[in-house]
Amino acid sequence: MVQGAAADAARVRAPVGLGLDSARVRARMVERLRSLGITDGRILAAFAAVERHLFVDSALANQAYEDTSLPIGFGQTISKPSIVGQMLQALLLDRPQDRPHGRWPASSATPAAPAPVLRRVLEIGTGCGYQAALLARLAEHVVSVERVGALAEKARANLAEGMVRNVQVMHGDGRLGAPALAPFDAIVSAAGGDELPAAWLEQLAVGGRLVAPGAELRPGVQELLVVERHPSGVTRRLAGEVYFVPLKSGAE
Ligand code: SAH
Repeated sequence: MVQGAAADAARVRAPVGLGLDSARVRARMVERLRSLGITDGRILAAFAAVERHLFVDSALANQAYEDTSLPIGFGQTISKPSIVGQMLQALLLDRPQDRPHGRWPASSATPAAPAPVLRRVLEIGTGCGYQAALLARLAEHVVSVERVGALAEKARANLAEGMVRNVQVMHGDGRLGAPALAPFDAIVSAAGGDELPAAWLEQLAVGGRLVAPGAELRPGVQELLVVERHPSGVTRRLAGEVYFVPLKSGAE
């Protein structure tokens, strides 16, 4: 009989209602994401590969592949896959230094994992670590900062269970970025509002891109900001509408 931690792991890996083949459920989620405008093959391949059910409570695992946010404790949520896709696409779209990439095939075959397109990425707001795991497939190294210590711990455990080795989770106030590990060629925040912290812009490499929620346009809708650092300065544009939790100060 399987006992203790092994039994827990077995439950997480084959949650009730998810069936034995979570890859097939994920492929359906990928098709839905594509129909919602997430068309970048590298991003879709990452969504097809990362087991989102490992990042939610086992009681919620049967909802893991629905396009919905779910509670992860501490008043926080795992972001909706389509919103994560929108953020990742804003981060990667039309980057001049991109390596060529294939499109997601029309058949249900799982494409080969593409080579990472980014070198160093900074994520603000790790939560349970799901977006960090996706970023880990698109980048050589991911640094992710979470202000709630217990969530940072949970994310580390989830990422370890998902065999993700190139994410460094840090507990602290993400408004300060990670100065000792800068510069980053991509910065993405899962929390925001109003002004962008100056530290993020300082830690963005020349040629790098920052994607973050900005000011609230109307109740429940924030602008999605894309900021790029060029040799001659910084450009800013809006790339859609999102809604994220506020960027809080300090750590707990
Ligand atoms: N990336 C997560 C989304 C988590 S929700 C996912 O993949 O689903 C946003 C997270 O931002 C929360 O966990 C919240 O605690 C965190 N957060 C808010 N303000 C922060 C700050 N100043 N520094 C770091 N994390 C912060």
